Amino acid sequence: MAVPKHKASKKQSNSRFANWKVKSSSISECPQCHEMKQNHRVCKVCGYYDGVKKIDIKQEKE
Ligand SMILES: [Zn+2]
Repeated sequence: MAVPKHKASKKQSNSRFANWKVKSSSISECPQCHEMKQNHRVCKVCGYYDGVKKIDIKQEKE
């Protein structure tokens, strides 16, 4: 089994833990309504996914 030759420095560990939030990109802009939505999920605002309407969103207008 491969074993690390040297102990990781505080700088290496801290920079690794400091950057985890930057790399997570599970939320992006919906191309249909330009609201923020989860990747690979139907947009909850307009009900579109991949340019096709998948679900009907009830518009709550007074
Ligand atoms: Zn949308």
